[in-house]
Amino acid sequence: MDYFDLNMDLTKEDKEIRAAAREFAEGVMRPISLELDKMSAKQVIANDSPLWEFMQQAYSLGFHSILLPEYYGGQGLTPLQIHLVFEEFGWASFGLSVFLAVACFPAYCACMTGEEELVEAFVKPFCECRDGSVRGCWAITEPDHGSDVIAIGEECFTSPEMISSVQAVLDGNEWVINGQKSAWVSGGSVATHALLHCQIEPSKGFAGNGICIVPLDLNGVSRGEPLEKIGQRDLNQGEIFFDGVRIPKQWMIVGPEFYVPMLDIILASANLCMASWATGLARAAFEESLTYTKQRVQGGGPLLEHYSMKQRIFHLFRRVETCRVVSRTAMNLNFSISPPHVEYSLWAKVQCTEMAFKNIHEAIQIWGANGLTREYVLEKLFRDARATLIEDGNNETLARHGGHVLAETYPRRPLDF
Ligand SMILES: Cc1cc2nc3c(=O)[nH]c(=O)nc-3n(C[C@H](O)[C@H](O)[C@H](O)COP(=O)(O)OP(=O)(O)OC[C@H]3O[C@@H](n4cnc5c(N)ncnc54)[C@H](O)[C@@H]3O)c2cc1C
Repeated sequence: MDYFDLNMDLTKEDKEIRAAAREFAEGVMRPISLELDKMSAKQVIANDSPLWEFMQQAYSLGFHSILLPEYYGGQGLTPLQIHLVFEEFGWASFGLSVFLAVACFPAYCACMTGEEELVEAFVKPFCECRDGSVRGCWAITEPDHGSDVIAIGEECFTSPEMISSVQAVLDGNEWVINGQKSAWVSGGSVATHALLHCQIEPSKGFAGNGICIVPLDLNGVSRGEPLEKIGQRDLNQGEIFFDGVRIPKQWMIVGPEFYVPMLDIILASANLCMASWATGLARAAFEESLTYTKQRVQGGGPLLEHYSMKQRIFHLFRRVETCRVVSRTAMNLNFSISPPHVEYSLWAKVQCTEMAFKNIHEAIQIWGANGLTREYVLEKLFRDARATLIEDGNNETLARHGGHVLAETYPRRPLDF
C-alpha cells in the first residue's frame, strides 16, 4: 500500500528508491520473514533456509551497503533516502531489517577510520559482495553486561569493578582476544566478521574498552546455539566465544582514548535505524487494521463504519505520521553532522518504538480475537514490536543516557552550516 508523503520535496530519485525498496519489501522480505517466523532458530540459519535467498537478493540490489558512502563503494544515499528504504524494510520485517543492517557494521566503522588497510580488508569486500557471503555483526553485550555497556556517564561505566568477559591484550604486533559475547548478538551465529567491543584497560571500566574488527573464521573463534525467542524470530542471534584469537594491531580501530565518542556514534546511528524501522512497523499495524475494519462486519455494518472505530483508526494513523516526522528529523540531523547530537537519536528510538508497540497493541484490540491467531500477520508484528523496546538498549537505559547528555549539553548552540 502506498502512502501520501508529507514531505513535498521528494525528488524523482527519492521516489524511485522508495519504490524499489517497497517492491523488495513486499515481494521478497515480508514473505520470507513470515516463513522464517514459523521455523526453529536452527532451521532459520540452515543451508536450505530462505534466509539466504533474502540475503542474496538484498545484496544483489545493493541494499546491504546503503549506510556506506559512495566514496568507499556504498550506495551514498541521503539521510532521507535511507529513511525511505528503512521504513519499507521495517514494514516488511523488523528482524530481517536488523540482520541486514548489522551486516554492514564492521565496514561502517572501518570507513570512519579512513585507514586504507582497513578499507581494503573490510569495506571493499563487503561493498563488492553480491551474494550475502560477507556479513558482519555488532558484538557489544555480554552475558553479565547488557545495559552496563552503554551506560555512558554513569558511575559504573568507569568503575574498575566493571570487568568485561572479552579482554584484549597486546602481544607484539598482535592483539590476543579472550572471552564471550552474549547470546543476543544479532547475526552472531552466522556472521563472517564481528565489530567487537573488548576491554583493553580494565582499570578504567568500560571506558577502557576498544573496538576491533575480527574475521570470525580465525583460530579460536566458536559459536553457541542460535537463540530461540518470542519475537523477531527471523533474526538470528547467538553467542560468540574467543579463545586466544589473534588479530593484527591495526585492526583495533579505536582504543580507550576515542572509545566513548565512537560508542556514541555507533549508538546514535543504530538508534536512528531502529526508529525508522519502527515507523514501518507502526504503519503495518495501521494499514492492516484499516483493511480489516473495512471487511469485518459487526452490528450490521463494517467495523469502520462505526464512529468509535474511525476514532481508533485515526489514532493509529497519527502515530505513524508522528513516527515518520520524528525519525526522519533525527536521521537528517545525525547523519549530517559529526559528532551526532545523541539525544535526538535516543529521542527517536524511544519515541518511535513506543509508538509502534502502542499501535500494534491497539491494532490487536481492533482485530479482536483474530488479532491473536497465527493465521494473520498481526500477532507476529506484536511479538516483533515487543523486542524493540529492549533491543539496541533498553528504552529506560537509553532515556537515562539521554538525560545525562542533556545535563551536559543543553542548551546546544545553533548549528552553523
Ligand atoms: C532483538 C534484540 C537484538 C539485539 N541485538 C544485539 C546485537 O546485535 N549485539 C549485542 O551485543 N547485543 C544485542 N542485543 C542485546 C541488547 O543490547 C540488550 O538486551 C539490552 O542492552 C539490555 O540489556 P539486558 O537485556 O542485559 O538487560 P539488563 O541490562 O539486565 O536490564 C534489565 C532491566 O534492568 C534495568 N536496568 C539495568 N541497569 C539499570 C540501572 N543501572 N539502573 C536502573 N535500571 C537498570 C533495564 O532498564 C531493564 O529494564 C539485542 C537484544 C535484543 C532483544
